[in-house]
Amino acid sequence: MTAPLPDRVALGTMHGKEAVIAPPLAALGVTVVLAEVETDRFGTFSGDVLRAGSMIEAARAKAQAAIAATGLPVGLASEGAYGPHPHFAFLPFGQELLLWLDVRTGQEVVEMTTDMQPSYDQETVADLAAAEAFLTRIGFPETAVIVQPAVTAPPLAKGVTDRALFIAALDHAFRLGGSAHLQTDMRAHMNPRRMSVIAGLAQRLAQRLAVPCPTCAAPGFGRLRSLPGLPCRDCGVETGLIAAEIHGCTACGAEQSRPRDGLADPGHCPSCNP
Ligand SMILES: [Zn+2]
Ligand SMILES: [Zn+2]
Repeated sequence: MTAPLPDRVALGTMHGKEAVIAPPLAALGVTVVLAEVETDRFGTFSGDVLRAGSMIEAARAKAQAAIAATGLPVGLASEGAYGPHPHFAFLPFGQELLLWLDVRTGQEVVEMTTDMQPSYDQETVADLAAAEAFLTRIGFPETAVIVQPAVTAPPLAKGVTDRALFIAALDHAFRLGGSAHLQTDMRAHMNPRRMSVIAGLAQRLAQRLAVPCPTCAAPGFGRLRSLPGLPCRDCGVETGLIAAEIHGCTACGAEQSRPRDGLADPGHCPSCNP
């Protein structure tokens, strides 16, 4: 069954993401309708969840809520996760996902990306000078800050972009605990870096939706995964390098393998260079 691109789709967000998601879809003739779903109930940033599975589940729940709120057949939602880099714990790392769900067919189209330089940071400070240094580092006031009396305590103030409010919250935290835990606010409308990453993801999703499946004509034919095994140039043994990209349709399951040209350098070969 084929479902062409709809005239309107529902976007579940409270955080202003329509500003960057609507324009690339408008170029396809698709109007984004804002669905004011309470997205925080699907989880807020805890800084410890970097699993794609749970991100897709959260985005799917938001898209379903947007569909329920508007009665439209297609919902869109984005989900991000931020924490330490999985291999370099001292570096920040972000993952962003944008999901398109068509309940007429059950088809999901997903785009994902990573951000190696997110505006994601946190620090416990004991004086104003350290707090000022943190603000400078994160790009305050364009990036908002969250102030807590301690890591485990509820925030005294979120979304702070005003210096006077920040100083008041900081003083309050100092009086409560002697120090203050500061962190970047990761909500998209409070974090320009994150908003720009979502903007890029929305453009990629629109490009993907513009490609119809050659078999069933559903929108969103594109890269699904890559296959390792590019042969070694010297001995022909399969290496860990990518041998082919698999493009496919999530509506009918049609797939195309697009082999990569060339051979692997023996430096990547498990036989020549064990
Ligand atoms: Zn198809
Ligand atoms: Zn080899």
